[in-house]
Amino acid sequence: MKDGAVFRGVDLFSAKHPVAQFLDLGLLQKGSQQHEGFGGDPVFGIVQEQVLPTDGKNFSSLRVLGKKVPQRGSAGGGRMGLESLPGSQFGGAHRQRMEAALGHGQEQGWGRRACPEGNSRESCRCMNLRFLGHSCFLLTTAKSKVLVDPFLTGNPKAATTADQVSADFILVSHGHGDHYGDAVAIAKRTGATVVAPYELALHAGAQGAKVHPMGCGGGKDFPFGRVQLTIAHHSSSVDEGGKTISVAAPVGFLIQADGKTIYFAGDTALTMDMELLGRRNRIDLALLPIGDNFTMGPVDAAEAVRMLKAKRAVPMHYNTFELIEVDPGIFKKEAEQHGCKVDVLKPGESIEV
Ligand SMILES: [Zn+2]
Repeated sequence: MKDGAVFRGVDLFSAKHPVAQFLDLGLLQKGSQQHEGFGGDPVFGIVQEQVLPTDGKNFSSLRVLGKKVPQRGSAGGGRMGLESLPGSQFGGAHRQRMEAALGHGQEQGWGRRACPEGNSRESCRCMNLRFLGHSCFLLTTAKSKVLVDPFLTGNPKAATTADQVSADFILVSHGHGDHYGDAVAIAKRTGATVVAPYELALHAGAQGAKVHPMGCGGGKDFPFGRVQLTIAHHSSSVDEGGKTISVAAPVGFLIQADGKTIYFAGDTALTMDMELLGRRNRIDLALLPIGDNFTMGPVDAAEAVRMLKAKRAVPMHYNTFELIEVDPGIFKKEAEQHGCKVDVLKPGESIEV
């Protein structure tokens, strides 16, 4: 697991396991003063019985991943972080004692800390959005895992690898390698459907991926929710044997799932069309490129936040390469002047939406 990885809104810090394996695990939490070895602090634990064998892996013993520590800026019932507990692995009788010590307090404890709306784990309808680096996100909805713009191979900031990530649907905004990159390989391995603008979907389909073509402005209901393709001012091309060939017009995505609306802008310039999106949709979260040079820079992206009337924003498409190095603090400062909460995520971090 990589540092900074997150399980249901809780940061995990340990060096031993890929966090992707834990996305479907149950999380137990209780004050552990009755259990030795944790210095009286409450602990979080993950229990093997609740493991779903995602990505072909499973676990044979109870592992306690870390102890709870308050995170900076988590006042008012925000997230709690986990601190690593080296060598914390339990089995047999020790495991039973550990389970008893951890108890089953997850409803109350988890809900207060992880759900931004204060709901219990059972009643929480939030989605988990994990930033995988550059413009790649994994959205875990109640029904499906939706991967957006999977560029992991060759991405120096990737939080996972193309052969580890799981997906039911893969949304691809345009053909450039830093967005379309691993889409076909992941779709073929997982059986996920690639949702993309028409010609790009055909391109992915010709390579053996299951695809769903769409056109800009069009929306479609999928099992997890509705996806509408939005205007993006950019270009779109693929590399064919060293030749650059234009394929489809680039788009963004308006994703409505689990009662929330997320706008993924793709690669785009600032455009008046964003005002139209803000007028006609209540945007809970905007994912906006801020890297400049190829897309909006931080100041234009903050103006996009104002036009979209977005309640919350996460910057993307910056600091992956030298050409798009910017200070996300500029975006955060400017966007928050428009009443928008900005989460600057490190690759591997996630938020509940
Ligand atoms: Zn790009």
